Amino acid sequence: MRVPEHIDSSLLAPCGVNCFACYKHLAAKKPCCGCLAGDEGKPGHCRTCFIKECCEGKGIARCFECAEFPCPESKRMERNYKKYGVSPVGNLVRARAVGLDAFMREERERWSCTSCGRGAVSQHRGVCSECGHAVGSR
Ligand SMILES: [Zn+2]
Repeated sequence: MRVPEHIDSSLLAPCGVNCFACYKHLAAKKPCCGCLAGDEGKPGHCRTCFIKECCEGKGIARCFECAEFPCPESKRMERNYKKYGVSPVGNLVRARAVGLDAFMREERERWSCTSCGRGAVSQHRGVCSECGHAVGSR
């Protein structure tokens, strides 16, 4: 997928994972449209996500709006994403500080391929969706 001019903040999941840079969102076949979109193409564990349901139950869009943030579930996500060099809690703290749109602009820079300049790099696989350039050692 080519990096668009503007990445909509609806792609920032309630837990702080940026769905834009997800391997499933960048997939050529049956891409997922993100946590907050429909279930089409969505991985099973994302369909039955505790954090998403928790936010819905509390009537909030993202965990940073919750008094209990970062709760044990947030910290569990944090641990799961450590291997990718991504911090969902850090993402939310940053987004809360600078605003969603500014955060998404930073993320657009972060996941743009430095090799071809067009493609988006998967945070899970560290590979550009357009040219296949591998980032770092992942
Ligand atoms: Zn590339």
